[in-house]
Order: sequence, then structure tokens, then C-alpha cells
Amino acid sequence: MVSYMKIKTGWKGIVLLLAVLLLLAGCGNSTNESKVVEGKVNVVTSFYPLYEFAKEIGGEDAHVINLLPAGVEPHDWTPRSQEILNTSKAQLFLYNGAGLEGWMDSFLNGLGSDSQVKTVEVSQGISLITSEEEEEHQHQHGAENEGHHDEDGHEHGETDHDHGHIDPHTWVSPKSAMIMAENIKNSYVEVDPAHREQYEARYEQLHARLQELDSKFTNELSKTSRKEIVVSHQSFGYLCRDYGLTQHSIMGLTPEAEPKAQDLINLSKLVKEQGIQYIFFEELVSDKLVNTLASEAGVKTLVLNPVEGLTKQQEQAGDNYFTLMEKNLQNLVLALQ
Ligand code: ZN
Repeated sequence: MVSYMKIKTGWKGIVLLLAVLLLLAGCGNSTNESKVVEGKVNVVTSFYPLYEFAKEIGGEDAHVINLLPAGVEPHDWTPRSQEILNTSKAQLFLYNGAGLEGWMDSFLNGLGSDSQVKTVEVSQGISLITSEEEEEHQHQHGAENEGHHDEDGHEHGETDHDHGHIDPHTWVSPKSAMIMAENIKNSYVEVDPAHREQYEARYEQLHARLQELDSKFTNELSKTSRKEIVVSHQSFGYLCRDYGLTQHSIMGLTPEAEPKAQDLINLSKLVKEQGIQYIFFEELVSDKLVNTLASEAGVKTLVLNPVEGLTKQQEQAGDNYFTLMEKNLQNLVLALQ
């Protein structure tokens, strides 16, 4: 009886806690953080890495708003009308492009013709990887089984189709991140030429850190004996291209593109043949398939983060693009030694 009472109070406590958390989350959406301000360049970014770079380069001259909340995977997010309205009042809207944001066309149309916001596709200037190119390096390949396997039958077939042919994960390589940082800097200078020097100076600092990260990746990955990685969703194409690795993915370019049983059997065979010791998983995507494959093949798992967003814990721990990429490098070196 006593323990029954304890359990009951426990549940009440949890329900109360949940209610408070929900209230807090509700308030979070209407804080000043997410509203445009006077006297600064207002920048809206579509997902985390752009937010971080825009904050670094914008410094005190900018107010940067990220559309995606922590813990959300950018492939399956859609904006609400409030966010479109808010963006239309900003000076700068930065998005990755290359097919990452499947919602982008309707979002840009929604901004309206009277909006002054300058919209910039930050991946411009990067030599993009098409899936034809990746095919040679790809084991599993969802986009190849062309056509009509949209089980979900939604209207954005065209966008998904394009998405299947271009790899959008440019930022996962420090080499393309440098181009992205430069594009962000140039957009700031264009909308706020009065602070050109400040933007240039902060950009130089960010660029130097990216360059240092790039040298670390080049040096350490050139020394590993293995070059093959098995990952959950196909998001390391640029990293592999720039640092001499080959990725084999369980899922396709988006985490929703699920594999067939035969693909898993083939991957398991590959893991055994190549003597691969670790399979990589990521925090924002279910690790079910990775665990299935790892236990089937008798190998261990490690995190490889495509830095598509921070989890709440990572946000609280002060993680950022650099800390996550450093961890990626450590894990790659461990797996490939
Ligand atoms: Zn992705």
C-alpha cells in the first residue's frame, strides 16, 4: 500500500513536470530571440551550421535567428507561417540549398514580393556531388531504384527526386565549410557595407579555425590504413571526397530513405570482407538499423555526426561545429587505424 502511494505521487510529479516543461517550450517560441530587432542586421538561418557561422561572422552587428529548434533533423522539418512572416522582416536569409531544404521553394514564394530580405544559397561555389558520381563509391543506392516507390505519396515528389540526385551535405567537410563561411561574409558585406571591416576581421578568425581543422583532417586521415566507412544516412560524401575515404550507407541521402533487406545483407557481407571494426551512427537519427547491422556483422558502433543540428544536451554542453567535427575525427581515426 505504501509503495503504491509512492508510485502515485511519483506519477503526479512527472505529469506536473511535463506540464511545466510544455509551458516553457510554448513560451520559448515567442521569446525575443526569434523576433527581428532594430539596429542590427537580422539574419535568419535554415539550420545549425549556418547559424553558428553567421553568429561568428556577424558578431555584435547581427541578430541571428535559427529556424530549426535543437534536436530536430533538417530533412523532415517544415516551417510555419509565423516563421515565414518573421523571415520576411529580416535583412538576410541564409539556407544551404543543394536540395537540403525540401521546403525551400514554397518558403521563398511565401516571403512575398514586398519583402526586402536578401536570400542566399550558402552552398554556391562548392563543386556539388551528384549521386551518379557517388554511385561508384556507394554500396546501397536508394535513388537508383528510380521512380515509383514513394510509399508516402506526398505532393513534393519533384523536390525529393532532385534531392536524391544531389548530395546536400556540403558543410560536413571543412573544405566546403570554408567556402560557405566566405559566402556568408560576402552577404553581410552586401547588406551592411558600413561594417565591412568588422565582418572581414571576424571572418578571418573563423576561416583560420576552419583551415586548422582542415589540416588536422588531412594529416590524420592520410595516416590511417583503412579507408572504408559504414554510416547510417549518406551524409559524408564531401568529407569522404576531400579526405580520401569511401562511405557505404545503410540509408540514402535522407534518413527516411530506408534500405531493403538485401541491401543490409550486402552491407553485412562487405563489413566482414573488409574487416571493418566499427559502424557509425548519428544522434538525430534512429540507430535501430545500425545496431541490427552491427550485431549481425559482430562489430561495434561509434558516433559520426553529420552536424545537421545539436541535441539539447549538446547545446547545453556548449558543443559546436568545431567540437563535433573534432570528435568525428577522433572516431574516424579510431575506426580506421
Ligand atoms: Zn542529411
